[in-house]
Amino acid sequence: MNILVCGGAGYIGSHMVKMLGTKGCNVVTFDNLSSGHADAVLSGNLVQGCLSNTQALRDLFQLYQFDAVMHFASYIQVGESVQKPAMYYQNNVANTLNLLQVMAEFKVQHFIFSSTAATFGEPQYTPIDEQHPQQPINPYGRSKWLIEQALPDFAHAYAMKSVCLRYFNAAGADPDGKLGERHEPETHLIPLVLQAASGRRKNISVFGTDYDTPDGTCIRDYIHVQDLCEAHWLALHYLQQGGASQNFNLGNGQGFSVKQVIDTAKAVTGKHIEVVYASRRAGDPARLVADSSAAQATLGWKPMLADLSTIVQHAWAWESKQVATNQ
Ligand code: UDP
Repeated sequence: MNILVCGGAGYIGSHMVKMLGTKGCNVVTFDNLSSGHADAVLSGNLVQGCLSNTQALRDLFQLYQFDAVMHFASYIQVGESVQKPAMYYQNNVANTLNLLQVMAEFKVQHFIFSSTAATFGEPQYTPIDEQHPQQPINPYGRSKWLIEQALPDFAHAYAMKSVCLRYFNAAGADPDGKLGERHEPETHLIPLVLQAASGRRKNISVFGTDYDTPDGTCIRDYIHVQDLCEAHWLALHYLQQGGASQNFNLGNGQGFSVKQVIDTAKAVTGKHIEVVYASRRAGDPARLVADSSAAQATLGWKPMLADLSTIVQHAWAWESKQVATNQ
C-alpha cells in the first residue's frame, strides 16, 4: 500500500510513519518542516513541501500512486489561533482543501483526518460521544470542524471516503524510545511537567485551581500516541474494506486532573517538581473526557497503553534522552 502522510515529520505523524513502515507500507511523508523534524521520519521518503503549493502536490501525486492519505499537518495551539486566526484558517482549512482537491483530481479516495476534541467546544455532558453537538469556541477547533463539514461533500461528488479521528489529549512517546514530542515552543502539560522534573525548565504552572472539579484543576483524557496511531491503522483497513465515512472520538475514557498528572510525574520520575499556581488559561473547558465506544465497536480499536503512568514513563524516557543529547 502506498500511503501519503502529510505532516509525517511532526509529533503524531512521525509515530504513524514509523508504524506504517513496520506494517510493510510504502510511506511518503510530505512536510514543510515548519515544526516537524527531518530526523523524525524513520521510514520511507521525506518530500519537503507545503500544502499551499498545489502544483507540488500534483507532481507528488503524479510520481506515486497513493492508495490513501493521512493528514496530520496543521497548527495546533488554541491560544495562538485566537491571536492569529488568518494563519489557522489558511493552513488548517485552505491548505487542506488544496490537498483534497488534488486527491479528487487523482482519484485517491481514502482520507484519514486528524481532528480534535476542540471541535466540541464547551462540553454539554461527559464523556463526549460522537452525537455531542459541535460548537467550537476557538479558531483552532473551528478550522478542524470546517474540514469535517466539507468532507461529506467530497464524498458525494468524488466518492472520497474519510475517517475523522478526534483526538483528546495525545501524549506519551514511542515505546522504543526513538521518537517523542518536540514542539517548539512546547505548550502541552505532560512534556512541560517532565521538563520541570529534568531541570530543563524551572517549574510548571498550573492554569487555574478554581474549576468545578474535585481538586479544582482541569480534567483531561490523555491518550498514548501509539494507541492513536493504531486507530489510524485500523481506520485505514476499515476504509479499504469498504467502510463508510465516519468520525470517531479517541480517548481512554478516563479523566485526570492537572494535579494528578503532576503527582504521577513525581512518582514516575522520583524528582522534585516545582509547582506554581497560576490563573486560568483562556478557552480551557473544565473537563474533556472521550466516549470512544464507537471506535471500539466499529474499528475494533482498544487502547493498549491506557495507563497514565505508562504514558508518563514513555514521555520521561524521551525527555531523559533529550537532556542527555543536549549535554
Ligand atoms: N496546563 C497547565 N499548565 C501548563 C500547560 C497546560 O496547567 O503549563 C493545563 C491546561 O490548562 C489544560 C491541561 O493542562 O487544562 C492540558 O493542557 P494541554 O495544553 O496539554 O492540552 P489541551 O487540553 O489544551 O489540548
